[in-house]
Amino acid sequence: MTAELISVGTELLMGNIVNTNARYLSEKCAELGISVYYQVTVGDNPVRLKNTIRTAIGRSDLLILTGGLGPTEDDLTKEMTAEVLERELVEDAHTRERIEEYFRNSNHKVISKNNWKQALIIEGCQVIDNDNGTAPGLYAEASDGVKILLLPGPPNELIPMFEKKVVPLLMEQCGRDGLLYSNMVKICGVGESMVETMIKDLIDNQTNPTIAPYAKTGEVHLRVTARAKDEEEGRRLNAPLLAELQNRFGDNIFTIREEETLEEHVIARLKRLGFTATAAESCTGGLFSGRLINVPGASAVYNCGMITYANEAKEKYLGVNHETLVECGAVSEQTAREMAIGAAKAADADAAVGITGLAGPDGGSAEKPVGTVYVGCYVRGTITVKRYQFKGNREKIRTLSVQNALDLLRRCLIEYEREHGAS
Ligand code: ATP
Repeated sequence: MTAELISVGTELLMGNIVNTNARYLSEKCAELGISVYYQVTVGDNPVRLKNTIRTAIGRSDLLILTGGLGPTEDDLTKEMTAEVLERELVEDAHTRERIEEYFRNSNHKVISKNNWKQALIIEGCQVIDNDNGTAPGLYAEASDGVKILLLPGPPNELIPMFEKKVVPLLMEQCGRDGLLYSNMVKICGVGESMVETMIKDLIDNQTNPTIAPYAKTGEVHLRVTARAKDEEEGRRLNAPLLAELQNRFGDNIFTIREEETLEEHVIARLKRLGFTATAAESCTGGLFSGRLINVPGASAVYNCGMITYANEAKEKYLGVNHETLVECGAVSEQTAREMAIGAAKAADADAAVGITGLAGPDGGSAEKPVGTVYVGCYVRGTITVKRYQFKGNREKIRTLSVQNALDLLRRCLIEYEREHGAS
């Protein structure tokens, strides 16, 4: 089945918003084995919208339109689709009731007249309930069998609707029973192109499950998806491929759970060990602590952190030696080491990270160019220091510093656990 994604909205054409729906839907279609041949963006213009729908019907098996289902005058997607299909718009009693209920349960007790426009559906179509808004999704078929899905524009309405209701519908339409079961293998410390090279044979020979890589900042994610009759079969089908990836990437994999972030994983490891952690940050200015403290329940393992930007602060609060700063410099292996040790001592923590680097744009030298970052990691008396060379602007260098500091802490905790076991 070939699909065409049609994103509707003048604000997309004006560059006011980024078309994240198209990216999301393309990814989902790939998982479902539906080939997206075209992505089109069209403004809220009746003639151009109708022409876009007609063209798509002439060349694709499935049209997925997003946006333009709202209550206002310029929301035209449903109206123009009905015109192209030569069908009427009729009121759907079930949707009208849902709209009433939605407003009863919200802060907006008064329903404005134009909201009832959302209870109109294309004659003969299937209604897809919207659990997070008032515009339902619609599924219609053109006379020649072309399938047309109309979905709401706001991602917080579109995504849950797609996951819960549209995926089963599409699976059924494709003549497939069951569900898609997926794991997300998240990798740190190996670059995107290296990961791709390492799994090329798996991608070339994939059938069920499939494997798809996605590059993120400082991470590469591999989505492993099985088409299965139920979750248990999905788990069973994914297991050999997950084991093979574990074999190839080892400790570089930090989780296979979609919802788990690197910082959540680090917090979970610290909890399992019964450890507390702290950080002394220079160039990252609190970003490391911020990422850990974003995790609910971080207070069980993280009591305090320090931002020691100036040399004097490194000496005063962390006990970094004056000679170290003069002889090795603030951005050096020795300073990162002393920062980690000093932080652990000051916070009386089991684990500590010290981050010092050159985020730029000025201050680099031939020996230590902008992007040079040292991370020291202390875990119960064992210290590891790593030098990194990052590329990019100040923001990117600081983000990558935090990412790699989290990863270094994770690896040091793994080492500790291997040697001592979890307490
Ligand atoms: P509403 O009922 O809120 O009017 P709608 O289905 O009519 O929803 P639009 O009015 O087209 O959708 O868009 C509403 C909002 O949804 C936009 O302001 C934007 O924030 C988001 N949105 C719409 N289309 C996209 C898209 N393709 N990618 C990302 N966000 C989008």
